[in-house]
Amino acid sequence: MYNDIKIVLATKHKKENAIQKPFEDAFNATIVVPNDYDTDQFGTFTGEIPRPSSAYDTVIKKANEAASQYGFDYAIANEGSFGPHPTIFFVPGDIELISFVDNKNDFVVIESEITTETNYAHRDITIADEYADFLEKINFGSHGLILRSLDTNAIIAKGITQLEELHSIVKSSFKNQSTIRLETDMRAMMNPTRMRIINKLAIKLVQRLQKKCFQCKAHGFGKTSVTGKLLCGSCGTETELYKFKVLSCIKCDYQEFYPRADKLEYADQQYCPYCNP
Ligand SMILES: [Zn+2]
Ligand SMILES: [Zn+2]
Repeated sequence: MYNDIKIVLATKHKKENAIQKPFEDAFNATIVVPNDYDTDQFGTFTGEIPRPSSAYDTVIKKANEAASQYGFDYAIANEGSFGPHPTIFFVPGDIELISFVDNKNDFVVIESEITTETNYAHRDITIADEYADFLEKINFGSHGLILRSLDTNAIIAKGITQLEELHSIVKSSFKNQSTIRLETDMRAMMNPTRMRIINKLAIKLVQRLQKKCFQCKAHGFGKTSVTGKLLCGSCGTETELYKFKVLSCIKCDYQEFYPRADKLEYADQQYCPYCNP
């Protein structure tokens, strides 16, 4: 169905390195990256431009606009969000979404990946603080760093990967600031860990596009939502954690229900509105 197609990829951050190969292997498809597409119009990680809508809406909008701006039938976009993992406490998580827009058949498929495999972190330092351990923890060098002023919240520098450069920027920053923030640069080309997750997600998307509906044989059958609520393992109260994932057809009403990927059958007390209100 998708053999030899050309797909526009909305990225300025070299995501073709993670997405091209799975699409080439499966469909002999060509990923085209325009060199002037402004993905920052949808907001940036670093907060210079606030994101106007949810990651889910943004990832669809990004692909749709690339398809229409460059005249393609097919488009791909990706969005990552970083923060506390949604179900594992005190662990940073990366939620990645990838969208595939098919204007010929008029549908959009979204795949997602939630992972703890991320170096997402920050450290606030004063002139007296050592930070070598932080650099080690975030794999500085192979992974880039951003420097931010805590007085103004403005970015001082981004994409730093050289130690000498870092030291000299830190030193000069302390001439007019008391505290600065070192934060991981989460842009894909600055973050090989994230690039790996995007590659994993691209493979998932390819498999999704290959999978046909049992009933009507339309392509793109897969997970679309979740349903049901897990009960608290200690008192039996309903929690906000879902019970089943729902796989649906994008054309007809055929659905399949599966247990959670993490095999959880009961929720931990910490998610219980009664045990942990
Ligand atoms: Zn169907
Ligand atoms: Zn409970």
